[in-house]
Amino acid sequence: MSRQRPLICGNWKLHHSVAQSRLAIKQLQTHLQSTPIQVAIAPVAVALESSCRMAKSKHTTPIDIAAQNVFHAPQGAFTGEWSVQHLRELGCTFALVGHSERRQLFGESDALVARKVEACLQKGITPIACIGESSQQHQQGEAHIVLKKQLTSMLQPLSSRLASRLVIAYEPVWAIGTGQAAQPQQIQDTLAFVRLLIQRLQGPHVAQQVRLLYGGSVSKNNAYAFMQQPHIDGLLVGGASLHAHTFIQVIQQAHKGWLAAK
Ligand code: PEP
Repeated sequence: MSRQRPLICGNWKLHHSVAQSRLAIKQLQTHLQSTPIQVAIAPVAVALESSCRMAKSKHTTPIDIAAQNVFHAPQGAFTGEWSVQHLRELGCTFALVGHSERRQLFGESDALVARKVEACLQKGITPIACIGESSQQHQQGEAHIVLKKQLTSMLQPLSSRLASRLVIAYEPVWAIGTGQAAQPQQIQDTLAFVRLLIQRLQGPHVAQQVRLLYGGSVSKNNAYAFMQQPHIDGLLVGGASLHAHTFIQVIQQAHKGWLAAK
């Protein structure tokens, strides 16, 4: 169990034009009240520069910017990629790594995800490393086997100093974008397993420090119940983060749930 500062990150995927991203950030900055929750959004890559510029404004509630992806090499013949150093240069705080859409649609392997995670940690970008089982794996009772494989390849190469800064998002693939979120108790049990694995691989201190998020059809209606679970340190939110108004409702409900469980 850990009671880290909660993190809620909105993943905008390939939604919003650059202008719409700017508008949505402006609305968030205008309406989001000061909160102990760390709030981040992950806009489309070409909106990162303007998003980071807006996020630096000192007169609004802080919002951190996350990239949806990053490459592990610092430079070279890798057409279409960008590096951790580029994200640092822009002022990003986080990078999503190994989202299930990257794994499924773009063939990202556990080994590649592990290299990206390590590169982020070494260069001062906090990776939000996504793990989760598919619908078929879920039905066949293989969730723990899949999570163990994904986590082991990611955690084994890391020093404990680096590992303790990791954020892990458990996103069962069957819950992403389906409106069928996992049950709070089910997530709590899975994250207890994840934390135990981290403890075995990296020791109890790291297991306490790592923030564990849940993602998959999070909404204003279920955020409260999720944040009441002691192992859930935050949420990764897709559809419900696209509009400032609904995202703020998710954040408010999550805050209430977190306070109630304290
Ligand atoms: C996601 O994109 O990571 C996600 C969890 O999406 P949704 O909240 O829409 O299920």
